[in-house]
This record gives sequence, C-alpha cells and structure tokens, in this order.
Amino acid sequence: MRDLLFAANWKMNLGPDDARAYMKTFRARYNRHERREAWFFPPAVSLEAAAQAARERADLLVGVQDIHWEPKGAFTGAISAPLAAQAGAKAALIGHSERRHVFGETDEDTRKKLTAALAAGLVPMLCVGETLAERDAGHTLAVVNRQLSGALGALDGAALARVIIAYEPVWAIGTGRNATPQDAGAVHKEIRSWLTARGVPRSRVLYGGSVNLKNIAELLAERELDGVLVGGASLDPEAWAQLVQAPAT
Ligand code: PEP
Repeated sequence: MRDLLFAANWKMNLGPDDARAYMKTFRARYNRHERREAWFFPPAVSLEAAAQAARERADLLVGVQDIHWEPKGAFTGAISAPLAAQAGAKAALIGHSERRHVFGETDEDTRKKLTAALAAGLVPMLCVGETLAERDAGHTLAVVNRQLSGALGALDGAALARVIIAYEPVWAIGTGRNATPQDAGAVHKEIRSWLTARGVPRSRVLYGGSVNLKNIAELLAERELDGVLVGGASLDPEAWAQLVQAPAT
C-alpha cells in the first residue's frame, strides 16, 4: 500500500450549480479510503462551490486551474493565487499543456506562476510533458528536464519539497492514447532523480493523459506513479468515484 493522489481537472466544464451537484454525488459514492486523496480543479467560478462541498473531508481538496503571477492589480480577466486561496483553493495547476500550447505559456511564465503559488501557500502541481514530435525525435527527457529547470531551477530544497509534478505527455491528453506504465515510469524516474539531485529525495509524481476506468489498474500497478491527473474521465462524478477506488498494490 502506498499513498495515492487522484486529481480531477474539470477544464472549462461544470459551473457552480453543476459543481455542487457533482460533489454531492461524489461524496455519496466515495467514502474516505486509507492513504488516498481526491483533488478537484474546477473552473475558477466554481471554486467556492466545490470547496464548500469538500469541507470536513480532509481527503478531499480543491485547487485552481491557472493563476496570474501578480497578487492583484489591473489584469482584467486574470485570477491571482491569493484570490483563488480566498475562494477555497489549496493547490494550483501550473503549466498544464493546454496553457502551454493553446495559450502560449512559456517556461518563464510557469516559473513566475509557481513562485506566486508558493508565496500564497498553495501547493503547486507542475505539469510537464513532451509533444509527439519531441517524443518521436527522442527528446522526451530533454524536454522534461528543460521544463523542470525552467519552472523550479531557482527554488531551494524546502520550496521544491512542496511541489507535486504531473507528467503529462501532450500527445496523450484528451486523445484516448495513454503512455504505457513502463514509459511513464521511466520519465517519472528521471523527474525523481532531478529532484533528488536538488535535495528532495521524496517527491510526489503523478501521471496524466487519457487515464480512464479501463487503464487505471494497469497504470497504478507501476509503482513509480503516485497517482493520476485526469481530465475527461473525471467529469462524471459516479465514474470518478469508481476510478478513485481502483485497486492498487
Ligand atoms: C488533463 O487535462 O490533465 C488530462 C490528462 O486530460 P485527459 O485525462 O482528458 O487526457
């Protein structure tokens, strides 16, 4: 038995009313399991509703999908880490592939956002992963190392120890094509050795990319995985409750 984290990225789905209904169903279907946590990343407008519904359950936690690096000011449409925290967020996704590839986020942006999340007391979940072209060119580990250094390179061991990494190959996100447990495990090892070399021997590394009820048991059998970050298959609360209870050794 090991500690496992199941993170649900709702992306641009589920408004406040939907979030309340979702969490009610999820809580009815999922009782606390020893050494398991379920985290939810709703759209910002649903943060407060989801956080309210997760209260009194230490194993459930809510995070924000994206933040701006400034704490406040004239940034119309943006949400800062302190504002998200006020709405109930305890964690922040940083550098999700959709932020990088749809919205043009750079490694330098991820560094600033990650620093802002730490400053506001949020747990940063940094997403890293290569595109299909980068994978085919044999650059997977180089890309992941570059993304780690870009976002985390200036942090000391104490700050690094608060960061969770999600390895999410871009070609596996929302495509129905997941990395094999062995392939994911090899990249997770690389991520762990990057952190170990900087004084963090124990870190949490999740896998994300087309995880679903069919492949979850096989993925969790790979002991390099400390859990999963899931988009599409987390949108139905009953299926998500089932997934969070998937068997693992
Ligand atoms: C994600 O959004 O982080 C993700 C992994 O999406 P999906 O599970 O749909 O591939």
